[in-house]
Amino acid sequence: MYPLRNILWLLLLPLLLTSACSRPEPITTRFLAFGTLVDLTVSGISQERAEQVTAAIEQDFAEMHHAWHAWDPGPLGRVNRLLKEDKPFSAPPSILVLIKLGKELSTASGHLFNPAIGQLIDSWGFHSDDPAGHRPPPPERIAELLQQNPRMDDIQVDGLTLRGSNPAVKLDFGAFGKGYGIDLAIEHLKELGVENAILNGGGDLRAIGSRGDRPWRIAIRDASGKGVLGSVDVSGDESVFTSGDYERHFIYEGRRYHHIIDPRTGYPATGTASVTVLHHNAVAADAAATALFIAGPEQWYEVAKNMGMRYVLLIDSEGTLHMNPAMQKRLQLLNNEHPIRISPPLDDSPTPGGSHNRP
Ligand code: AMP
Ligand code: MG
Repeated sequence: MYPLRNILWLLLLPLLLTSACSRPEPITTRFLAFGTLVDLTVSGISQERAEQVTAAIEQDFAEMHHAWHAWDPGPLGRVNRLLKEDKPFSAPPSILVLIKLGKELSTASGHLFNPAIGQLIDSWGFHSDDPAGHRPPPPERIAELLQQNPRMDDIQVDGLTLRGSNPAVKLDFGAFGKGYGIDLAIEHLKELGVENAILNGGGDLRAIGSRGDRPWRIAIRDASGKGVLGSVDVSGDESVFTSGDYERHFIYEGRRYHHIIDPRTGYPATGTASVTVLHHNAVAADAAATALFIAGPEQWYEVAKNMGMRYVLLIDSEGTLHMNPAMQKRLQLLNNEHPIRISPPLDDSPTPGGSHNRP
């Protein structure tokens, strides 16, 4: 009926097909690691290559999961045992690097992020696959652990040798291991020639490159962890990490106890529902999200400055959004339901852990 239009379509078809082929939809593959689902989304490579690359990254995560597990037997368990003995021992390389990073990040956070408080976390029942059914530890146990004051400074590093000077130290890499794992895996992906990818472990991610000619669009979770608050666009190389009280928790006598422990009180941190940070490397973003959660609505700004963060969103337990102006510029909110408090700008100071950005 419309011969001219048909001819035009026939002429256009190869052109449309070529452009569709040159910009295929990103491919997502998925596996389990660190007790969570890991999604690897890649753009600009074939399905076959995506599957090969996923197999390599899955293997990386399996090794890291074993090395850093806080309660299964493995290298971290061995280090924790030897740290109690007050004599030098040689450090497994996979643990040494996290001890050094942990020391730096802990100091920068004013020890709110403190991976030496594993005994406290264990006493709260979070060194188990399912914390449901646990109850708070007796207050005397918490007081005793606070008094022993385990810190990363209680671990001496001399070359490849470690020595513990406080038997209360028990390492728990739960607040930054996944971030460091994502950093290592992103380096591996780059070595494998992948330039455009998102590596997402249970909602925490690092994105490199872009989605064809568009930036990656990343959803930011709301305070319940179930819905979406808004989104940010990310291109180049950036990590987005969230710490929330909805993650691991148990209910005892009608009260909810979550897994982010304030080392000043020995109890789950109060005042914050979730914190999201954007930062170049994932390990610093991961540690900072945990530290700022503990710092809470009144202190997050100072701690963020000390940790070299430039984009922070904190949702307090009343639902108010606290953020710095640069974050406000990037965050596309889905609605205007929440009160917003904007902090002074965060400056551009160097990042603790930044030198480890290229592991
Ligand atoms: P994240 O989800 O990254 O905020 O990490 C929370 C996990 O880090 C918890 O499940 C604990 O294993 C560990 N953790 C809890 N409190 C702290 C703390 N104050 N410093 C370091 N690690 C912590
Ligand atoms: Mg963290």
